[in-house]
Amino acid sequence: TVDALAAVSSNADGRERWQGALMNNYGTPQLTLVRGEGAHVWDADGNRYLDLLGGIAVNALGHAHPAVVEAVQRQIATLGHVSNFYASQPALDLAAALLDVLGVGDSGRVLFCNSGAEANEAAFKLARLTGRPKIVACEGAFHGRTMGALALTGQPAKREPFQPMTPGVVHVPYGDVAALEAAVDADTAAVFLEPVLGEGGVVVAPDGYLAAAREFTSRAGALLVIDEVQTGIGRLGSWFAFQRAGIVPDVVTLAKGLGGGLPLGACVGIGAAAGLLQPGQHGTTFGGNPVCCAAGLAVLRTIAAERLCEHAAELGKEIASGVEELGHPLLAGVRGTGLLIGLLLRQPVSATVASAAAEAGYLVNAVQPDAIRLAPPLVLERAQARQFLADLPALLDAALPGRPTTEA
Ligand code: PMP
Repeated sequence: TVDALAAVSSNADGRERWQGALMNNYGTPQLTLVRGEGAHVWDADGNRYLDLLGGIAVNALGHAHPAVVEAVQRQIATLGHVSNFYASQPALDLAAALLDVLGVGDSGRVLFCNSGAEANEAAFKLARLTGRPKIVACEGAFHGRTMGALALTGQPAKREPFQPMTPGVVHVPYGDVAALEAAVDADTAAVFLEPVLGEGGVVVAPDGYLAAAREFTSRAGALLVIDEVQTGIGRLGSWFAFQRAGIVPDVVTLAKGLGGGLPLGACVGIGAAAGLLQPGQHGTTFGGNPVCCAAGLAVLRTIAAERLCEHAAELGKEIASGVEELGHPLLAGVRGTGLLIGLLLRQPVSATVASAAAEAGYLVNAVQPDAIRLAPPLVLERAQARQFLADLPALLDAALPGRPTTEA
């Protein structure tokens, strides 16, 4: 029965059986997590981990932040789901707050959805409404796993099993200004860009790249879509990455950190792009539901009140320089901005480092075979970061060639 299975899932043998009930799309999960608080999570056996992944950048405020807990509890007890035919106060408030932190005021309009992929699907549909056939995206970029977002994603191995793709998308090398300029023409509906390739291994766009993209798209009358699903909501040490580049895009897509752990995405249109969608052309049942929007509002307010953008900028610098100072033989370098940091390895042993880290009580992400990604909650404390830096050499030692691997 359902109850018997749930009971059995609380011991190790049972967990194995229980996991067999999930499709295998993420492989076998290494841990079952049962509780979180701040930057820490605990597994079912009571082991504590410092969460340097933040649920892949989802938990801006960390786990069980009182502001999010209180907002969600209050909202679900007041008004839960409403049909898209009616507005709800949290959605209106969050849209206004978002436009405020985006710095676009009355020229912006928000479409709420439930994930990053959905935000990019919406942006894709906006692009189609320009009537132009072509969309330019980048090699190595990640925009999501639904069919439209997958067509935008510049990682062939992810696309191949699902061919044929939605047509019209061309990919250019990331960070190559000349290639981008050559690709953007009068047929181009939109250019999709990540300010930093997140899933692609924390690859930061070269200085001037976003500004060049703005210039080429404006000149061609194409939309510039900035995918801030991973980089937005304070992660890079500013509300949004495009603000650091001094540009204003036509469309910004958001998710992850926006919902404070709840499923919430947004596609924000700015200027003419804000008016492209007509009634009946797009929507989703749970997009903009009051509970997720209440969580989102709590996230934005808390980031502002606790000055977490500034904290992310400072702590990120400290972590990056701390890692560089280690001068460990396995480390080829550090990339990233704010609290999105990539540790580059000289060997493709990131999985071994990640397992050694988990054994030592740190959750990190083997984002590429030769790169470890850190995307901790923005509330990560300085002392927690310093402890990680102190323990990091031993975690890297575990993956030095000639050492027995810790992998199961
Ligand atoms: N865009 C970027 C830049 C992302 O990093 C991700 C998720 N890793 C997505 C889109 C897709 O978001 P979701 O998983 O919420 O669909």
